[in-house]
Amino acid sequence: MEFQNDLKYAQQLDKEDTLREYRKQFFIPDYQGNSVSYFCGNSLGLQPKVVKFYIEQELLDWKNMGVEGHLEAKNPWFSYHHFFESAATLVGAQKEEVVMMNSLTMNLHLMLASFYKNRGKRRKIVMESSAFPSDFHAVQSFLQLNNLDPTDIILELTPRNGEHTLRTEDIIATIDENRLEIAMVLLGGVNYYTGQLFDIAAITKVAKKAGAVVGWDLAHTVGNVPLQLHDWGVDFAIWCTYKYLNSGPGGVGGLFVHEEHGNNLDLPRMGGWWGTEEATRFQMNKHFKPQTGAAGWQVSNAPVFAMAMHKASLDIFEEAGMVKLRNKSIKLTGYLEFLLKGNKDVAIITPKNPEERGCQLSLLTKKEGKALFNKLKENAIIADWREPNVIRVAPVPLYNTFTDVYRLAEVLNS
Ligand SMILES: *Cc1c(COP(=O)(O)O)cnc(C)c1O
Repeated sequence: MEFQNDLKYAQQLDKEDTLREYRKQFFIPDYQGNSVSYFCGNSLGLQPKVVKFYIEQELLDWKNMGVEGHLEAKNPWFSYHHFFESAATLVGAQKEEVVMMNSLTMNLHLMLASFYKNRGKRRKIVMESSAFPSDFHAVQSFLQLNNLDPTDIILELTPRNGEHTLRTEDIIATIDENRLEIAMVLLGGVNYYTGQLFDIAAITKVAKKAGAVVGWDLAHTVGNVPLQLHDWGVDFAIWCTYKYLNSGPGGVGGLFVHEEHGNNLDLPRMGGWWGTEEATRFQMNKHFKPQTGAAGWQVSNAPVFAMAMHKASLDIFEEAGMVKLRNKSIKLTGYLEFLLKGNKDVAIITPKNPEERGCQLSLLTKKEGKALFNKLKENAIIADWREPNVIRVAPVPLYNTFTDVYRLAEVLNS
């Protein structure tokens, strides 16, 4: 695609953008009286204007009904987790394979408890050396709880010398070479630091063939790129909803468990009453018998207010459509990449191939990185800084414009 480095051209792209009206559905923050260009949708997505009404509905039902709201509310709280079919659609799952609950790291702990087995020789967990710290904390502490030594278990994937991202062929080769020793492969769908999107289908296939359980942390992937978790045969996946999914700080987490495991009631798990069958839950049996599907991993009753925010946001995603969003996203990010060509102060470490990235570009700063980052803020451009020297920017298709991208590049290039 041939782009032009020209404000009029950027404005023209905005005019032609069939998704442009969605921006009006979001509150755009101000900085010193100016509406910002917001590039942190990968960290905390902006607030959809309708969120308020979804929360008000629950406040109203609580106010008017008290405990009766569990069954009588407009959206009965007892059944609240059933209202998230669109979350399953978004990740390419069957309805029963997805449940919204807890938050990401907590869900990772629950998945490790169910899916990690130390089988002597087969005991390794493959992770990226640059995995999000919380994932390491969860895995390390889980292993320690089980009297296992993390340094003996975790097998880290590192980029080749002088490279910032992992090559699919190298990931596959490592899995292949260690095929008899790997118990689990646990990777981020999109790496939070580099913005690299992994070939989830190919890696899952190879890892499963090697006999490993495959889990994906989709914090930076959901709402960013289309997914087909069921067809790809992913065993489990976890995600948060406050990043690309715009569902508010501390928003409810997501869980995918493939139906093959969801139907296996013998899988060990960390139980709680919300994981039991609904029909018999209030018989108050001591014995824990989980229900089938991802819902059988629920521990506590649903955090309705957080889930209301998520519902508001999912309704927007459902209407806009992930495929259309992805098409615009490829163009927006491609435009930013085009405008930064020749910039001497930053180098893009995110892969060039659009199939190996989502919205985000990670800009490695060469000198005075922090000053450059501060200059963005002074110009009402919100990005984020990741130590030691990276500025992350994520133009998102729901509320970013080609003009936003133009402004960002203008400041970076000046
Ligand atoms: C943001 C992020 C998390 C956050 O975990 P929480 O439990 O939601 O606080 C975890 N993993 C990755 C890869 C992330 O990007």
